[in-house]
Amino acid sequence: MDFIPVSKPEITFSDEAYVNEAVRSGWVSSLGEFINKFEKNFSNFCNTKYALTVSNGTVGLHLSLVALGIKPGDEVIIPDLTFIATANAVSYTGAIPVLADIELDSLCICTKSIEKLITSKTKAIIAVHLYGHPANMTGINRLAKKYGLYVIEDAAEAHGAKIGDQKVGSFGDIGVFSLYGNKIITTGEGGVITTNNKKLYNKMTFLRDHAMSSDKRYWHTEIGFNYRMTNLQAALGVGQLERISEILKKREFIFEWYSEELINVPEIRLNSTKEGYKNAYWLIYIVLPKLNDKKRNTLMSKLKEYNIDSRPFFYPMSQLPMYKTNTPDSVNYIFEKGINLPTFNEITREQVRYICNSLKSVL
Ligand SMILES: *Cc1c(COP(=O)(O)O)cnc(C)c1O
Repeated sequence: MDFIPVSKPEITFSDEAYVNEAVRSGWVSSLGEFINKFEKNFSNFCNTKYALTVSNGTVGLHLSLVALGIKPGDEVIIPDLTFIATANAVSYTGAIPVLADIELDSLCICTKSIEKLITSKTKAIIAVHLYGHPANMTGINRLAKKYGLYVIEDAAEAHGAKIGDQKVGSFGDIGVFSLYGNKIITTGEGGVITTNNKKLYNKMTFLRDHAMSSDKRYWHTEIGFNYRMTNLQAALGVGQLERISEILKKREFIFEWYSEELINVPEIRLNSTKEGYKNAYWLIYIVLPKLNDKKRNTLMSKLKEYNIDSRPFFYPMSQLPMYKTNTPDSVNYIFEKGINLPTFNEITREQVRYICNSLKSVL
């Protein structure tokens, strides 16, 4: 079997045609019709009033925090188990990321843990929809209201995930999506921010473009950023977004395929989705109680001998030198015992069967 990567972007002929059109139009920087179109289509997709493209998801998180007025000395509660960008974006503002525990079923931030961490310095919560499963936004919004906190959804891994009929990116004050090459849809590098708040939208638009006055060119009243996306990238995004329903449907199939193949291995736990939630299945994962840090690495290198790519979960933020503190038991348990398996749009039923059979013989 040929090498099976964990993820791989699917670029179609129509994606290519849009990018060519953008190149030929001469609008290769951050102005152009594809930017407008992508933003409009993305806000329609999320059912939010506004969507704002940015250079990547990380700066999208930073821009959101700055727009909310997060300053040095403030505290922002984030889950311990996430990609580093969530924590670093908080640090860029001078604020302190405070690490919360996770729920064992969804792997997302735990509201009980958040409430224990709230102090007079707490200004915001960033909920991460990890591996495509929505965080408990009802609980988080309730806490935010009770304590007067802002809510940012880090939806980098969860385009199209839902709670009930409502899509992620529309629950918090601000939602941030990544369009990196391995995400659910891609623009190469890129990100998009969603909000229903006009003031925040205007503020983020302003800060994204060097905080330049709209009626007085080259007049700047504060320190802004160049966090813009290019029209070339937006062209790719327009193509990708046209197929997103199909892509999400395929991801549900992929999950079904893994479930069918692994149903007779009771010790393996696959992604679990809470009642009433719709998972976007960014990455299929397995959690195996008998694994530890070392055995997990052995399992991954054995899979590599079968030409199968896999990857460990993110290191808990609390284990990294910049954010070192005690790691909660649930976070450590999941981190040591979990790996991600190949999950991409073009994966076949045969490949999933091969992956699962190889996994079974390695175990
Ligand atoms: C990918 C990712 C980001 C960052 O997105 P980039 O576009 O790569 O900057 C942020 N948070 C999470 C949870 C991610 O998975």
